[in-house]
Amino acid sequence: MSDSKYYDLVVCGGGAVGLSIAYECVKNRWTVCVLDAGEIGKGSSWAGAGILPAGASVDALDPLEQLRALSHRLHPLWAEELLEFTGIDNEFRRCGGLYLARTRAERATLRANCSWWDDHGIAYQQSTVGQISQHLSGLKSVTLVEPEAECWWVPGDCRVRNPRHLKALQTALTQLGVEFLPHTSVLDFHHQSGRIDRANCEGNRVVRGNAFCVASGAWASKLISTVGVATGIMPVRGQMLLYKLASSAFSCVINEGHRYLVPRDDGHLLVGSCEEEVGYVTETTQEKTDELRDWAIGLMPVLTENRLVQSWAGLRPGSFDSYPYMGKVPGFENLFVAAGHFRHGLHWSTATGVLMQQLMFGEPTDIDLEPFRVLRGNAASRL
Ligand SMILES: Cc1cc2nc3c(=O)[nH]c(=O)nc-3n(C[C@H](O)[C@H](O)[C@H](O)COP(=O)(O)OP(=O)(O)OC[C@H]3O[C@@H](n4cnc5c(N)ncnc54)[C@H](O)[C@@H]3O)c2cc1C
Repeated sequence: MSDSKYYDLVVCGGGAVGLSIAYECVKNRWTVCVLDAGEIGKGSSWAGAGILPAGASVDALDPLEQLRALSHRLHPLWAEELLEFTGIDNEFRRCGGLYLARTRAERATLRANCSWWDDHGIAYQQSTVGQISQHLSGLKSVTLVEPEAECWWVPGDCRVRNPRHLKALQTALTQLGVEFLPHTSVLDFHHQSGRIDRANCEGNRVVRGNAFCVASGAWASKLISTVGVATGIMPVRGQMLLYKLASSAFSCVINEGHRYLVPRDDGHLLVGSCEEEVGYVTETTQEKTDELRDWAIGLMPVLTENRLVQSWAGLRPGSFDSYPYMGKVPGFENLFVAAGHFRHGLHWSTATGVLMQQLMFGEPTDIDLEPFRVLRGNAASRL
């Protein structure tokens, strides 16, 4: 089935990254179509927690820190703009982050973090849970065991309610005239003389355009390989639990190692997560959900009296060197990729939207994209 429509940009993948790119491009007057193999906004971006760790307040040299800092500056602006435009509050909150250390290894890691925070001008304060509780609204209603555990407080950490953010983006895009094709998996691209002219989709559907951007998260390496280019993007599963408390017990994000508690304003509480290399498997496991539940209850015994609403797993788009891929696919003048954001795709999606728009429009980019180029390292080459 051939669609007679022709778009300035066809975005392959409707997660936080794809929707953010579409948002920036449509605001700059491109016609845009977003395709997704499933529902729009239901990939790993939906499954995530929405933690937005503080960004550098000084000029960072490290490319990832530049990306984090730009994203962190953009999130409150986007939240305000989306609220005004759609009436949807994405629950962006400057809530602060509590980093808890109860073992010697956790204390060592956090002390190392301090020099990183110092280098990047990120404010923090070392304390005990008892001392810090005065800064945390509602914490007194929570029984935190081991009040003498060491902890660090980072006031610049923020959170966003990712399903609401995705809904706000999708609503804004609809109002701006972006077309969505859910349940339309892109199989490959038709190209001639280094130029893509159409995306071939499941069900013999064809979508034509002037530029194409692969933003299909953990699945991006499969799609890019169809044009003979290999990338080091791989799925890394993370599992999550969702509790419902009568009201929000505290407002900050509580971190311990790679596990965390993330509150929502209405009393929902997320418990995450883990990192598992198990391919494209999205089922939860009893072992990990038990582990997360036990850790959360150990920290917050009141959870035993509250309802476990749901558990799920999502696939983070990991990359072999922790750098996302953002750039033009070599050998093609109009094929781009923005994927491989691993644990940070919700956070870095705002800057990614801005930078990819600048790149595709042929404008200078706010950050040098060379470190994020498609062909790099041993893990990536022409197939
Ligand atoms: C448990 C968990 C917790 C997380 N917590 C955080 C956090 O606190 N903060 C943070 O910043 N990040 C977090 N992340 C990471 C973040 O969710 C990802 O980095 C981010 O979602 C990547 O966005 P994306 O748009 O690239 O991919 P996705 O959101 O996965 O979107 C990709 C989309 O592409 C579609 N697709 C795939 N193949 C095709 C195809 N062939 N054709 C068309 N469409 C296709 C998929 O259906 C999907 O909808 C977390 C992730 C998990 C799993």
